[in-house]
Amino acid sequence: MKKRIIFATGNENKMKEIRMILKDLGSEILSMKEAGVDADIVEDGMTFEENAEIKARAVARILTNDIVLADDSGLEIDYLDKAPGIYSARFAGEDTSYDIKNRILLDRLEGIPEEERTARFVCAVAAVFPDGTVSTVRKTIEGRIAQESAGSNGFGYDPIFYVPEYGCTTAEMTPDQKNELSHRGKALRAMRDILKEKMSEGI
Ligand code: IMP
Repeated sequence: MKKRIIFATGNENKMKEIRMILKDLGSEILSMKEAGVDADIVEDGMTFEENAEIKARAVARILTNDIVLADDSGLEIDYLDKAPGIYSARFAGEDTSYDIKNRILLDRLEGIPEEERTARFVCAVAAVFPDGTVSTVRKTIEGRIAQESAGSNGFGYDPIFYVPEYGCTTAEMTPDQKNELSHRGKALRAMRDILKEKMSEGI
């Protein structure tokens, strides 16, 4: 029988994307909540990969028979020494609106020329298997911090993340367009390939 796949997130938007990308694996895909787990996990890793693994392991300790996945993502701005990085959600305060967070970042980059505004969204996805082994992938989308916010799709830092090849921010893309090229879309598709391989080996 195929293993269940549990994704350690409470975010329904992420679950939608995950279900779409992993559907051809033929496994049941559940959020933590749907699997009946309510864990308050302290993300104290120093990298995206460590944090993804910490989240997945915390749930895998409870659901020992399932494959448990977790992700960790954020925005790295080169001019700010890769900040906010793993602190992207907490930057300027967890409860501060993204209008304000984005304004602070635009102000910090005021007067900085295009070529020094390089940035990337990063996403690490970790999978913990019932035998205790772990696989991790990390993918990025490269871009620049825009001069001004633009667009109202997406979430978080999307309105200030400009993708030169597309001539717009990720907040100006449709959800399908963004999934196609985003850090999370790429990382989930890479993880799908790892899961396919593992499942064919009987895990
Ligand atoms: P987490 O991976 O859910 O912990 O998200 C980390 C934080 O990174 C989010 O709260 C956002 O601030 C930021 N972030 C991650 N991915 C994106 C994205 O696709 N667009 C905008 N912001 C993002």
